[in-house]
Amino acid sequence: MVVIEKCPVCENAETELFVATKDFFLTKENFNIVKCKTCSFVFTNPIPDKNILPAYYESPDYISHTLKKCDIKSYIYHKIRKINIKNKFKIVNKYKNAGHILDVGCGTGELLKYFKDKGWKTAGIEPAEQARNFAVENYQLDVFPESKIKQLGDLKFDVISMWHVLEHVYDLNDRLSLLKKILHQDGYMFIAVPNIDSFDASLYGKYWAALDVPRHLYHFNKRSLKKLIEKHSFELIDVYPMKFDAYYVSLLSEAYKKSGILGYAKAILNGFKSNYKASRSGNYSSMIFVVRQK
Ligand SMILES: [Zn+2]
Repeated sequence: MVVIEKCPVCENAETELFVATKDFFLTKENFNIVKCKTCSFVFTNPIPDKNILPAYYESPDYISHTLKKCDIKSYIYHKIRKINIKNKFKIVNKYKNAGHILDVGCGTGELLKYFKDKGWKTAGIEPAEQARNFAVENYQLDVFPESKIKQLGDLKFDVISMWHVLEHVYDLNDRLSLLKKILHQDGYMFIAVPNIDSFDASLYGKYWAALDVPRHLYHFNKRSLKKLIEKHSFELIDVYPMKFDAYYVSLLSEAYKKSGILGYAKAILNGFKSNYKASRSGNYSSMIFVVRQK
């Protein structure tokens, strides 16, 4: 295990325990999430070594990399994904309606395929070999392993997207510095992350499925995401809600609580409550941050 000595956002050392939780998804191992005493950034600490971390993704159920639809959670996930792709495309189009998009953490490539069909030039980065091969073979996409991202230096992109990816990135500051270099001066970056300040996050506490330790290394809110990107000379220009996430995350969280059959009803109710409260507070379960070069 690696102890993070400094807050990745403000680089101060003092932290306090935020919540003790566990890897409900795979290993059932315990992990602590801490909060920076200076800037309030919330992050998992300690974390598994960089070389060990990929093992925490090695499950036949790791849902973003599988196309099976034989249980209700997968079925809902895939239905929602289709709608989400259309919504993401619409949002991106408000800022750019053509060009070259890089999707970092593109999984099996469905989003890039959608963009490609609409006439965009596309490229993807995906660490999971199986997902990467699927994207290349089925959709004829250019998808590269994570190590290749450093060699993209000559290319410039109009849009860089990271949909539920930044919270997984081991070398967070290095990655943002790199993305800064490969984004056109008039380009846009779209960053979707779960929101630790959402109603469902506080309701489910250590069971909140979007904690997803140790795969999620950081647990953002609007304030910390803004501070991080500003550190890298980006500016935050817009925020959009991801309303389905409140239901999906509540569904998983109820499963982690072993709520049984009643869990489905509770999840729907809590998803609705989360979105209702967020319509006033702005703190949706997950949010899309639109960022541009400063
Ligand atoms: Zn800090």
